[in-house]
Amino acid sequence: ETLDKGLEKSKTSFFEKMSKAVAGKSKVDDDVLDNLEEVLVTSDVGVKTTLKVIERIEARVAKDKYLGTDELNKILREEIAGLLSETNTGNATEFEVPEGTKPHVIMVVGVNGVGKTTTIGKLAYQFKKQGKKVVLGAADTFRAAAIDQLQVWADRVDIPIVKQQMGSDPASVAFDALESGVNQGADVIIIDTAGRLHNKVNLMNELTKVKRVMQKVVGDAPHDVLLVLDGSTGQNAFEQAKQFTAATEVTSLAVTKLDGTAKGGVVIGISDQFQIPVKYIGVGEGIEDLQVFNKIEFVDSFFK
Ligand code: GDP
Repeated sequence: ETLDKGLEKSKTSFFEKMSKAVAGKSKVDDDVLDNLEEVLVTSDVGVKTTLKVIERIEARVAKDKYLGTDELNKILREEIAGLLSETNTGNATEFEVPEGTKPHVIMVVGVNGVGKTTTIGKLAYQFKKQGKKVVLGAADTFRAAAIDQLQVWADRVDIPIVKQQMGSDPASVAFDALESGVNQGADVIIIDTAGRLHNKVNLMNELTKVKRVMQKVVGDAPHDVLLVLDGSTGQNAFEQAKQFTAATEVTSLAVTKLDGTAKGGVVIGISDQFQIPVKYIGVGEGIEDLQVFNKIEFVDSFFK
């Protein structure tokens, strides 16, 4: 229900475009396919993924020349659900920490302003709610505000945070956070990292160093490298995903701010293009406004 609300703008915009795309047409013909292509691109599904979807629909039209436009929504829904399945995305229905990793270390990356801190706070809250012991590490030492903001969330969720002064070595903070987490018997440790998108080599070096130093405490850390992307930035989010995946091995995605945007299609394109599962979506500013991304719910809610 929050998902429906969170996707409201994307849905409204999508349906308006879809009804224009098929206006006056009863059969799916070349015109309709051209229009559909435009609908998908302008919904921020991304060009590559759009072409893939169009190809699949063309293949269905080739088999059934009388395919009606009234069926287009249903078909689109099937094809998009299929795409999301291929990227192995959105199978989870609950916030969960995999068995056998204690502490489970999540390193969070992303550009400033995308909602990184908020996502960490919301995620910590969900884990804490399950009775898990959560520790935060403020390894975004570049801005004082980043450390302060994370502290605000640590207070709100009522969990420990490990931090140092602004300007200190991020790897050193990450080390301390893991050590402290291990000593406290933490189940989950979430490490915030610097959010400036400086040049690729610097970004790569910094993230590599943070990882290497963490591994001195927990040999196989981080277990998850979560890239946070702002869904409302559409194509910018694709660009950021490109840069971060080139700099480090990103293992999952969180797409935020889907509530305020008509660009919800970005979730489909990004998971398809980068073959990285979208794990969480942000649908508001509140502590409860983070959802485990579930493809069935998403597709159902988008095409309802
Ligand atoms: P950071 O710089 O990446 O750490 O970004 P913040 O976590 O500080 O978030 C930046 C702004 O985006 C804040 O005003 C947040 O409340 C807001 N924000 C974060 N996630 C969401 C979301 O899912 N929906 C909405 N509407 N706002 C969000």
